[in-house]
Amino acid sequence: MRVRVATGEVVMGRLERGDDLLEALTAVCRAEGVRLGRLEALGAVERAVVGFYDQDGLGYRYHELDEPLEILVLVGNVSLRDGQPTVHAHVVLGDAEGRALGGHLAPGTRVFACEYSVEILEGGELHRGAHEPTGLPLWVRKHPA
Ligand code: ZN
Repeated sequence: MRVRVATGEVVMGRLERGDDLLEALTAVCRAEGVRLGRLEALGAVERAVVGFYDQDGLGYRYHELDEPLEILVLVGNVSLRDGQPTVHAHVVLGDAEGRALGGHLAPGTRVFACEYSVEILEGGELHRGAHEPTGLPLWVRKHPA
């Protein structure tokens, strides 16, 4: 499952303190009409919720991190799920001691400060759908309407 696309424009901006990191990034992509893209961000959060996918149980286990953390790295992509631009992102977070931890970015991660850039990709689309072998909503062939 792949597409070959061209790099388009880049949207750069800053989120507000108190924003939900995943929801705010998703809102930016939807407002900008990004249907396929690449995402990166850095900054800090007041708290975080990150997931680890249990490959035996086929479900996410979430870790709630109730402390200020640096966003050392956030990488993600934008594709379509049920026709809507959807963000999939992973974060590496750093604590006050400089330790790194992270995972699949989940709702409930509260921004302290965040600078992002979204690279818009043109000439193709990727659609998320149920993928039985993993239980994940992965990129699948688009079903005929
Ligand atoms: Zn993930």
